[in-house]
Amino acid sequence: MTLYRDSALVLRTWRLGESDRIVSMLGEKSGKIRAVVKGVRKTKSRFGSRLEPLSLVSLLCWKGRELDVVSQAETIELFRETRKDLDRLYKANIILEATEQIAQDGYPEPELYKLVVRVLRVLEADDPQMLLGSFIWKLLALQGYRPQMSVCAVCGVTGSRAGFDATAGGALCEEHAHGRRASTEALDVIARSLDGQLAEVLRIENSPVVAETEALALRALEVVLERSLRSVRSSIIRH
Ligand SMILES: [Zn+2]
Repeated sequence: MTLYRDSALVLRTWRLGESDRIVSMLGEKSGKIRAVVKGVRKTKSRFGSRLEPLSLVSLLCWKGRELDVVSQAETIELFRETRKDLDRLYKANIILEATEQIAQDGYPEPELYKLVVRVLRVLEADDPQMLLGSFIWKLLALQGYRPQMSVCAVCGVTGSRAGFDATAGGALCEEHAHGRRASTEALDVIARSLDGQLAEVLRIENSPVVAETEALALRALEVVLERSLRSVRSSIIRH
């Protein structure tokens, strides 16, 4: 077996038998990592407690055929402020779950790693209102999801944008927006997030467009993943 070293964000953990645990992580160089941590619940385990979700660690792992085995882990960052604040923790859990779902096994995704770690650091420092919505749009764009934003996704007419439907594939004109209306401001934020204008979008505050953008983003994520996220409160995804 070969050893490798990487920085990794812990996304999720599962129990494995009496004392072991499986940890799903996003590695800076490795992409998604699934590794076994042996003897987590024994008091002797030196690093088991460092491998909790929302921990950034420096990792030494044995490469396995299906699951790797963690040999050493040292904490880089714990995101303490986020852990202390229920609202931030809620957003962080959605970010971790969406990343876990969207990252592919055995495939390096350095851009995804960069985006997720950056967004978690912004959340830790500041908690801007637009963070979750814009993150999800950027995440979807990174995975190749490109909704039609300048023409109606149903009829192709240019100009008036009156609605949005992730299943239809993007913005909708006045005629096709029925029951799927979206504000021009929200559509503008979506288009800018997809374009990577994250810093600008994060400056938007106290706007009704925040909740709308977030709800549309979570709906689009559901469509792309073909399932809903367990971290999302059911009340806010219905749009
Ligand atoms: Zn149309």
